[in-house]
Amino acid sequence: MSLTKKKLPINTGIKMLESAQTLITKTGKNLGLSAGAIKRLLMPDAVHELNFTAKIKGKTEVLQGFRIQHNNKLGPYKGGIRFHPGVSREEVQALATLMSIKCAVAGLPYGGGKGGVVIDPKTLSAKELEEVSRSYARAIAPVIGPKVDVPAPDVNTNPTIMSWMVDEYVKVKTEKPTFDQTDSSRRNLKNKDNNLLATFTGKPVGEGGTLGRTEATGRGGVAILKALLAKMQTRMKKKPGEITIAVQGFGNVGYYFAKIAEEEGFKIVAVSDSKGGVFVPAGLSVATTLRCKKEKGSVAGCYCRGSVCDVKNGQPIANEQLLELPVDILVPAALENVVNSGNVSRIKAGIIVEMANGPLTEEAFAFLAKNGRIIIPDVLANSGGVTVSYLEWYQNMHQERWSEKKVNERMESLLMGAFSAIWQRSLEKKQSIKQAAFELAIERITAA
Ligand code: NAD
Repeated sequence: MSLTKKKLPINTGIKMLESAQTLITKTGKNLGLSAGAIKRLLMPDAVHELNFTAKIKGKTEVLQGFRIQHNNKLGPYKGGIRFHPGVSREEVQALATLMSIKCAVAGLPYGGGKGGVVIDPKTLSAKELEEVSRSYARAIAPVIGPKVDVPAPDVNTNPTIMSWMVDEYVKVKTEKPTFDQTDSSRRNLKNKDNNLLATFTGKPVGEGGTLGRTEATGRGGVAILKALLAKMQTRMKKKPGEITIAVQGFGNVGYYFAKIAEEEGFKIVAVSDSKGGVFVPAGLSVATTLRCKKEKGSVAGCYCRGSVCDVKNGQPIANEQLLELPVDILVPAALENVVNSGNVSRIKAGIIVEMANGPLTEEAFAFLAKNGRIIIPDVLANSGGVTVSYLEWYQNMHQERWSEKKVNERMESLLMGAFSAIWQRSLEKKQSIKQAAFELAIERITAA
């Protein structure tokens, strides 16, 4: 109890759920859906609230978890599992709802789901983390499956955790009492069991995971940005080398977005992490910045020697300043609600690529859209991740293993299909890309 309820964070999930539901209601009304049809889209198919136990610091603790299955009209529920002390039913429901939209936007044969455990994993030993993961997997085992509900990593969960979870799930389903849980004997599984591996995506490569997943979200975001710029040729006259980009966040999404955008010839002028950022007007090297972050613990200390920073080539900046830089493209790739009513009037970028989930509040989005900024919404911009999760699932289901090149090509082709349909609709109906994406997704779900 003390482990999960200490310093209970404010339930930001309530606001998140309200916001997702307002968007769906507005879109449903625009599409002329009946009140009943809209209500059906708002209500999840099933809410599983789970109490399960794990031994932590020598004591058996009862933990609370969720698996919320929002809508499966287009296919199995799909969505990650997060471990966080702030997890709430409302937050998981909001995220499950947005997964239904994201999968429909991406044209994937999936519905939306999400899971969560109310726990701070940073307080756990590796053994305790494994026990929590296995215990949660056992609790959700009756309601998931390769054709029913397919979880994946999310905040504070990773391929290792997926490996423990899928191992536990296979144990439950195959009912082999002698199955050795410490031995990765999944390699010996027969084809039918291989399908069981498809129940979780984001697994380690070599244990049913796919090549290309780590980079997928960043790579997909860059592909969509390039597609947008190609459509905007008449408005954006600069060549890639002259187009400046600032990226907030230097984790999985931010780092790979910056790295791949740099490889594509764009000029990355600023990056940041939780401790601050660095601004290099002439363009920075992503590889050098990563090396420096590894040495100094943050990108904020790069271009500095001791307390002296090289203000000519690069200067430290606060996270808030990064958002307000006079760049062509702003890529918030860290947290939600970072662009809000407090700073929106100071945002100068003409294009914003929402790589994080929900980095712009609704108010900020409306203000920027009204002022002619182009915003690639999160449900499209970061859908490369779930698209490659789908390709992992597909490979597992068909007993195939693809090269990274093939995975990347398939992902890009799926994303380009999604982008073209949304772009076309936004032009025809004179809508924002976000509005077009939500309409298309809801049309696809209701048509199914
Ligand atoms: P991550 O934990 O790997 O990286 C997060 C980064 O944000 C880190 O560099 C961290 O230092 C930085 N950060 C934390 N607080 C910050 C602050 N106040 N200001 C600036 N930077 C800060 O997480 P990630 O996987 O890169 O996910 C980032 C966002 O992208 C999240 O919103 C996540 O939901 C979303 N997303 C991730 C994926 C994926 O495949 N990883 C897919 C879709 C969406």
